[in-house]
Amino acid sequence: MGTKGREIVGMDVSKLIELLNKAFADEWLAYYQYWVGAKVAKGPMRGAVAAELEEHAGDEFRHAGMLTERIIQLGGTPILKPEDWYKMTNCGYETPEDPNVRTLLDQNIKGEQCAIEVYNGLLETVKDKDPVTYNMLLEILEDEIEHEEDLQAIVEDMELMKKG
Ligand code: FE
Ligand code: FE
Ligand code: MG
Repeated sequence: MGTKGREIVGMDVSKLIELLNKAFADEWLAYYQYWVGAKVAKGPMRGAVAAELEEHAGDEFRHAGMLTERIIQLGGTPILKPEDWYKMTNCGYETPEDPNVRTLLDQNIKGEQCAIEVYNGLLETVKDKDPVTYNMLLEILEDEIEHEEDLQAIVEDMELMKKG
């Protein structure tokens, strides 16, 4: 990367790259969990749920791209082997073995809540040290907060439908 661009980072750059790679692993796993969840979803409001999951998959894919670009800019290498996603992840992967929409939603809400905690922590870590990474992480955090809210709103609607 540009030497000056790296020099202005006020923290250990290799540590920062490692933290970004961990988030990168989370994004790929979240992407796949959403993507495959949208395909297998069954139950009430299946179409609406699948559309939302698919949209979120696209956002997680985009987040993975944003993180990679910054990792490379910092002189790092993004995780090259999918098997390393599992070794590096903060939030893990919830296998959508039960295709019931409600189970899928609960699993993905849990994932978003983990992501919110991770990005909030990362923002704290880079605050006053790397404004470029800070901006990118903030943009991602805003999306994760929206994701959690969207999924919880669907669950709320389902509960209201049950009550009739
Ligand atoms: Fe994400
Ligand atoms: Fe998300
Ligand atoms: Mg959404």
